[in-house]
Amino acid sequence: MMLKTTSEIDIVKANSSKINEVDFENLTFGNVFTDHMLVCDFKEGKWEKPVIKPYEPFLIDPSAKVFHYGQAIFEGMKAYKDENDDVWLFRPDENLDRFNKSAVRMAMPEIPEEIFIGGLKTIVDMERSWVRKGLGNTLYIRPFMIAVGSGVIAQPSSQYRFMIILSPARSYYSGEVKVIIAEHYSRAANGGIGAAKAAGNYSAQFYPQKLAQEKGFQQIIWTDDATHTKLEEAGTMNVFFRFNDTIYTAPTSERILDGVTRKSLIAIAKRDGIKVEERSVLVSELIAGAKDGSLKEIFGAGTAAVVSPIVGFQYQEDYYELPKIENSLAIQLKDKLTKVQYKLAEDTFGWTVKV
Ligand SMILES: *Cc1c(COP(=O)(O)O)cnc(C)c1O
Repeated sequence: MMLKTTSEIDIVKANSSKINEVDFENLTFGNVFTDHMLVCDFKEGKWEKPVIKPYEPFLIDPSAKVFHYGQAIFEGMKAYKDENDDVWLFRPDENLDRFNKSAVRMAMPEIPEEIFIGGLKTIVDMERSWVRKGLGNTLYIRPFMIAVGSGVIAQPSSQYRFMIILSPARSYYSGEVKVIIAEHYSRAANGGIGAAKAAGNYSAQFYPQKLAQEKGFQQIIWTDDATHTKLEEAGTMNVFFRFNDTIYTAPTSERILDGVTRKSLIAIAKRDGIKVEERSVLVSELIAGAKDGSLKEIFGAGTAAVVSPIVGFQYQEDYYELPKIENSLAIQLKDKLTKVQYKLAEDTFGWTVKV
């Protein structure tokens, strides 16, 4: 992969760093941000010169389209530090690709590679002391774009702002995750925006998620909107099911986010002789598998938690507990993937990119 780094970025350095005030041992996910942010505006049909400057709030007109019509997209990725203090990104080209697909779907302008990848490398390099060594320490990277053009008329904005902000994170443990299978609400529909990493997909989930939490479930397993019979995603993660020795995950579609973690786990599984199939799993198969013991594992996959094992699921009136498995495939796959990301295992796919 060709990565272009640009000298075309204006840099305004912070006078001092906040880094010494940060308790790296006790971070809550996504709450602390580094000293700088990248800002790049789109006006009159073109992207202006990006600027990296001190992290700070900024002004937007109250009539900006993002507030009224929700033109907002984002990405989530991480930087890792290896034992030699080198800093690495993981498959950033995939995030760029997906960002631009999201942009097209939301009638927003695509971002050039020089700005996305070049900007990413420059700002992560500036903030490299915020990337801590050691398995589980990462710098979470949040590129996003919002419509900043003013006017409460329902049409796409003519002005946009692309930004990158960075947040140090410890790998997060969500504790025991119990899920409930969606029977009424949907995350996405055919022809909708489910395959885009659009802010609105998240706000639409908050209410059903709250109802699930009130019933004691941490996550919802989303089913297809038309029939609620096919299992699609777990919360904001892709979802895998293991029956006997084969793992299954739904094929990507208009309703399913094309996760980088998902595709990386599939590739690693195939390389290492773990049987994996991309096909829809039905709710009825899940119930049958839970009853006859062939269902061994369910796990979510996404950048934030990498792999999130699920201990049981509720469907209608019944709760089904999964067996407790030593050396689960979820943990094996997570281990293999994180070792590539931290340069502790050979990167046979050429996924890691040095900053
Ligand atoms: C971001 C996201 C994922 C996971 O994608 P990764 O690239 O693996 O982080 C899965 N599902 C949804 C709905 C998402 O928004």
